[in-house]
Amino acid sequence: MTDIKIIGAGLAGCEAAYQLAKRGFHVSLYEMRPNLMTPAHKTGQPAEIVCSNSLGSENKDGRISAAGILKEELTMLDSLILSCAVQARVPAGGALAVDRDKFSALVSERITHHPNITLIREEFTEIPDSPAIIATGPLTSDALAENIKALAGERIHFYDAVAPVITRSSIDMEKVFISGRYGRGDDYINCPLNREEYSAFYEALVHAERNIPHDFEKGKYFEGCMPVEAIADRGTDTLRFGPMKPRGLVDPRTGHEPYAAVQLRQDNSEGTLYNLVGFQTGLKWGEQKRVFSMIPGLEHAEFVRLGVMHRNTSVNAPIVLDEWLRLKGRENVFLAGQITGVEGYMESTAMGVVAGMNALRENLPAWPRDTAIGSLLHYLKTAEPKHFQPMNINLGLFPEVNLRGKKERAQFHRNRAINAMKEFLDTL
Ligand SMILES: Cc1cc2nc3c(=O)[nH]c(=O)nc-3n(C[C@H](O)[C@H](O)[C@H](O)COP(=O)(O)OP(=O)(O)OC[C@H]3O[C@@H](n4cnc5c(N)ncnc54)[C@H](O)[C@@H]3O)c2cc1C
Repeated sequence: MTDIKIIGAGLAGCEAAYQLAKRGFHVSLYEMRPNLMTPAHKTGQPAEIVCSNSLGSENKDGRISAAGILKEELTMLDSLILSCAVQARVPAGGALAVDRDKFSALVSERITHHPNITLIREEFTEIPDSPAIIATGPLTSDALAENIKALAGERIHFYDAVAPVITRSSIDMEKVFISGRYGRGDDYINCPLNREEYSAFYEALVHAERNIPHDFEKGKYFEGCMPVEAIADRGTDTLRFGPMKPRGLVDPRTGHEPYAAVQLRQDNSEGTLYNLVGFQTGLKWGEQKRVFSMIPGLEHAEFVRLGVMHRNTSVNAPIVLDEWLRLKGRENVFLAGQITGVEGYMESTAMGVVAGMNALRENLPAWPRDTAIGSLLHYLKTAEPKHFQPMNINLGLFPEVNLRGKKERAQFHRNRAINAMKEFLDTL
């Protein structure tokens, strides 16, 4: 049986292992945790979700998004990660959110019980000579990162942050209200702030002590995961147009939208834990407790996880990778996951599917450009190397279409993508 090494049992590594194993190949899957931990992971479980428990929106109730299209494609490709996420789902309105422990336990079970996968608990420090997939993620261990850098040139790095999690029992339910945005469902707990409360909170936030100073490596944050204090630095009202946006959140006690609001999303199946949506932060831990306890309803919040901020590594994809995610000059080595230059749980998973389906194939398939996955691959191949930035899936990456309405355009992209994926799967 042909053997392949996969380094990193995260989202992309587990997905790639599954895609290869189900096609009859034998996979040796290397994971350094729990022997060597990353600064963000907390367990030794494969496929641990490090921050938000949301995997982004789904296409339902007539709403279509790029993230939803990507999920539809991943379903067609029999994604292990997506199917486990669906099984570990917790309520989150139009988004797919998971109980993180249940999710990684499900993935772990599928990986460790697969007869074609051997999980080896070991750090891998070299780029292998034999067929391999490197899926070591944004927190790749230093030794391996140095070797990738030696081969692939300068690394791209930026900062990602994690949001705190609190217990539901510590929330003062008298001060909050339960509702989805625009009255859609009742999956969120909302903490309303009036103008005075917002001002006091804002002042405390911008002046709180940080682990990373205000002017440190300016512009090195990922825009989609900016720390809440860095958003606040941009102006008094930026939070009210970002994570504290009150639009569509009508407080049933007043009949009005509050001046600002913080949303709390369920974090585990039992509903005992909630995370502060969009509140990823690099504030010092004591400061997080002090400042976030100023949010109405959270005065006595019990924090079971506090926010942290981490350096996040990827390669300069347009220079380093070919269109099949192979390292140029080392064509038996593929990259997968966030390290390729995509950003996000589902995007990383998608790059795990691609690497898994490409590796060990005699004829490398041409991934269809009209799909979400093809659009991500196209971005990695054609982005301007000088200004290369990790990328989330979005409709702007899809091939252009000349339609006026936003809804019609999204629907068109979706139908075209699904048809293209069907055709692609038929040809394989
Ligand atoms: C702090 C932080 C917060 C993030 N928050 C979000 C978020 O809220 N939402 C979102 O969509 N995305 C988020 N991301 C981005 C990204 O989606 C996740 O990091 C995602 O898990 C990436 O998947 P992956 O498979 O590429 O890497 P990972 O899931 O990190 O998996 C990589 C695995 O490789 C292992 N490993 C590393 N080096 C070695 C080695 N040398 N040998 C063996 N094993 C090794 C690691 O232990 C890990 O298990 C965040 C990233 C970071 C760093």
